[in-house]
Amino acid sequence: MKCIYCQGDCIKTGKMKNVQGYQCKACNKTQQKRYNKTRISQEKYQEVHRLNNECCGISHIARLLYISKSSAQRVIIRMASKIQKLDFFSFS
Ligand SMILES: [Zn+2]
Repeated sequence: MKCIYCQGDCIKTGKMKNVQGYQCKACNKTQQKRYNKTRISQEKYQEVHRLNNECCGISHIARLLYISKSSAQRVIIRMASKIQKLDFFSFS
């Protein structure tokens, strides 16, 4: 199998939930031959951000964008983890 990142040769490296895993010999990244879930596009990321700021619930966002509720939740948690707390006392 060819690596999806650098087109190098891959070797088998065990199974994860009954799916064969592969590891690239050049860049050491692990991957699968094929993934069941499709990736959420960057436009949908922006839409989740916009709808979440408009106080839409997770079910509402999932219904409007045709993604699963767990995907909407995961996107929101990922965005929330990047927020940095402001330290007002460091400015003075
Ligand atoms: Zn590689």
